[in-house]
Amino acid sequence: RAKTAGRDRFKVFSNRLLEHAVQLMTLENDMDTAMAEGQFFLNYQPIVQVDGEQKLFAFEALARWRHPERGIIPPSEFIAVAEETGQITDLGLWVLNEACQTMVHWRKTIPGAKDVYVSVNISGKQFAQADLIGKIRRILRRTGMPANRLKLEITETAIMQNAAQATNTLRMLKNLGITLAVDDFGTGYSSMSYLQKLPLDHLKIDLSFVQMLDAGPENVEIVKAIINLAHTLGLQVVAEGVERPEHQRTLLELGCEYFQGYLYSRPVSSQEAEQFIKTKDILPLAG
Ligand code: C2E
Ligand code: MG
Ligand code: MG
Ligand code: MG
Repeated sequence: RAKTAGRDRFKVFSNRLLEHAVQLMTLENDMDTAMAEGQFFLNYQPIVQVDGEQKLFAFEALARWRHPERGIIPPSEFIAVAEETGQITDLGLWVLNEACQTMVHWRKTIPGAKDVYVSVNISGKQFAQADLIGKIRRILRRTGMPANRLKLEITETAIMQNAAQATNTLRMLKNLGITLAVDDFGTGYSSMSYLQKLPLDHLKIDLSFVQMLDAGPENVEIVKAIINLAHTLGLQVVAEGVERPEHQRTLLELGCEYFQGYLYSRPVSSQEAEQFIKTKDILPLAG
């Protein structure tokens, strides 16, 4: 009996593995097609700067996949797969190129677009990619995007996965004039002494912390500690997942400089993002 049960368990386990492998291969194939046929596109979510007045500081470029049968697929369903298969390096360069092209177009056609940054996510594998710097430089040169309006977001986990080369890679990016952010801060395991060595500009507090703000004063203390840590290290703070006016109010009181979340806008199409720059009409003022 015990033996049968064990075998059954093994069967379930191996079926799952097989299922995972099949899913992975299917997605991998679909993603190759998607790249070739231009099924990926970007949404843009405003990042707002608050110092006295509220103004548009940046757009974060967020990848989306328009799948012919499945409809729009969010990054939570394909970025991790693309990491696993290695396709993220091509996809990531496509995202960077597309974001730069779009921004350059806005800079040429909309007065007032010149100060706006575009912020692009870099995955762990991409961050470790050989000649990442050369590839980024080429994209900047070809698109005409100025490095000093490009921001790159690298997760705390991706930095720690590449701890040995991280300082060096970040230093080279910084030397190009690119602004650097550690993304999803608080979900990984970096130490203060390690962070202090990295040439970062911004720290993005993970949205889980922002959304905890509702749940009680201890949580406010945690967010306060993160913001103070960032400022001690000389970093400015971006809060993601700001959904309610009270979030903004509390974060502002704690010294947070930049805000991103549904309170201001969901990620939108490039056409809608363009309207934001044109009208500057972004913000239902909180407070
Ligand atoms: P992220 O870089 O931390 O991006 C912020 C995510 O939070 C976005 O999800 C955004 O839509 C969501 N968000 C923003 N404001 C709010 C809010 O007020 N409430 C809630 N509930 N969510 C909010 P999205 O677009 O689904 O992207 C998820 C993650 O996928 C990103 O997290 C990023 O890690 C990854 N990702 C997206 N595009 C790319 C890409 O081009 N390259 C790489 N490597 N990763 C990407
Ligand atoms: Mg990000
Ligand atoms: Mg983030
Ligand atoms: Mg996040």
